[in-house]
Amino acid sequence: MDDSRITKVVIVGGGTAGWMAAAALSSTMGELSIRLVESDAIGTVGVGEATIPAIRLFNAMIGADENEFVRETGSTFKLGIEFRDWGRIGDSYMHAFGQIGRSLGMLPFSQYWLRGRAEGVAAPLGHYSLGETAARRYRFGRLPRVADTGLDGMAYAFHFDAALYAAYLRKIAQGRGVERHEGRIVGVRRNGANGHVAAVVLENGEEISGELFIDCSGFRGLLIEEALETGFEDWSHWLPCDRAIAVPSENAGPARPYTQAIAHRSGWQWRIPLQHRTGNGHVFCSDYLSEDEAAAILLANIEGRALAEPRTLRFTTGMRKRGWTGNVVALGLASGFLEPLESTSIHLIQNGIARLLAHFPGRDFDAANIDAYNRRIRFDYERIRDFVILHYHANQRSDSPFWARCRDMAIPDTLARKIDLFRSHGQLFRDGDELFIDIGWFQVLTGQNIVPHGHHPMADALTRDELAGFFRDIETIVAGAASRLPAHQDFIAQHCAAGVFA
Ligand code: FAD
Repeated sequence: MDDSRITKVVIVGGGTAGWMAAAALSSTMGELSIRLVESDAIGTVGVGEATIPAIRLFNAMIGADENEFVRETGSTFKLGIEFRDWGRIGDSYMHAFGQIGRSLGMLPFSQYWLRGRAEGVAAPLGHYSLGETAARRYRFGRLPRVADTGLDGMAYAFHFDAALYAAYLRKIAQGRGVERHEGRIVGVRRNGANGHVAAVVLENGEEISGELFIDCSGFRGLLIEEALETGFEDWSHWLPCDRAIAVPSENAGPARPYTQAIAHRSGWQWRIPLQHRTGNGHVFCSDYLSEDEAAAILLANIEGRALAEPRTLRFTTGMRKRGWTGNVVALGLASGFLEPLESTSIHLIQNGIARLLAHFPGRDFDAANIDAYNRRIRFDYERIRDFVILHYHANQRSDSPFWARCRDMAIPDTLARKIDLFRSHGQLFRDGDELFIDIGWFQVLTGQNIVPHGHHPMADALTRDELAGFFRDIETIVAGAASRLPAHQDFIAQHCAAGVFA
């Protein structure tokens, strides 16, 4: 064996990030010794319930059976996010997963839809989306393709209980040899020669030593920040919300197969349906709203009885200047934070793990390798940041200084270029392999009422009747496919009900 290989990994923290890392490494990295240190006394953030479809790849990588995972985590299925009151009060649009309509010739569906909308022959965009059509009818099924039509099937993710997901991952990881150490870390021992972390020191004096350390200790970044002083890049001038109030509630009806993001005066509210309860939260900007006012707005807008006292979480949006410093790689909240508007935090953990596996170091911790990882992570964070900013910036609300501030603020050049390009002729340009695909951008840009000056001239090749027929066919196929799916609640009851639900 090449003796420069890493053999000992220490994961600091046992929240979603820590146990995802433990499950992934123990599933893929063979001979590694993996130890995870966490403190029950400190606990975890414990929110983080909505995901995006890529989570299915992660679950497949660790060998999780999907029905078992749904049962054990109280999950429901998620087909997208409904945004209410974002552009203007009264608006509603969905960012649904999966493709919408189908391309024709060289043009994407979106170009025909822009023409169709301008000429009054196109229905709302969601009528051509299987995800949105099924979501609005509370239907769900596993449908890889719509048979005999060339249309993609259903793309889906999950809403789950974050604490149950961590417990589920812990069972898998420990089953594969990961050693868990309970205890509060009170110190860090550094290697005098290169400044690397050599060991973490627990309250009882025990030292846990390793070669590679994965910092999953949450917002404070015990190793990456407190020990190595990597620095944090603050993005709150673009994303000024800095607090969330969270409260679970009883389910008030059948679970929606989608997340809701409802804009309020100085922020927005999430509703995330699980099998056994609904997760609710109000993300807001403390410059405009006190915590008591924010809690009152949230409690006035939940659908079932509150099951606990509201609790406050404080955060600063931004990212660690380097996600990997020396022999420490930060994942999860230790690496940065983007508010949960597009459910991307758990994805960023998954992404960090995938990049770490791709750049897995030797004991020399080659600087070029670390640099490549850091550039990649920055790109991933920044593109998602731009997408989240778009929702705030492109608003027409006149009811509060918060929305005026978001509308008037300078935005990153990378986002300004995208919006300008779209405004001209509805064109979209996916930047490399950034997370969100064109149709995701399209749904949000049009949902936030940005209207392009025109469409691509090739969309004019169809006559008006041909165009209307094209839309009619797709709408009929989509509506038919959605109506053949079972009710979301029935699908869960039949395949993957958690104990409380069976
Ligand atoms: P934590 O959960 O904070 O875990 C930190 C761990 O480190 C704990 O085990 C703790 O015990 C341990 N630790 C810390 N200090 C020490 C010490 N001194 N000694 C020993 N152990 C220590 N993400 C999504 O994808 N979708 C969502 O819908 C979503 N909603 C969110 C809503 C809000 C309001 C917030 C704040 C976050 C949300 N997130 C969401 C993000 C998500 O919660 C986190 O990405 C995820 O929980 C990962 O957290 P973590 O494991 O990094 O940190």
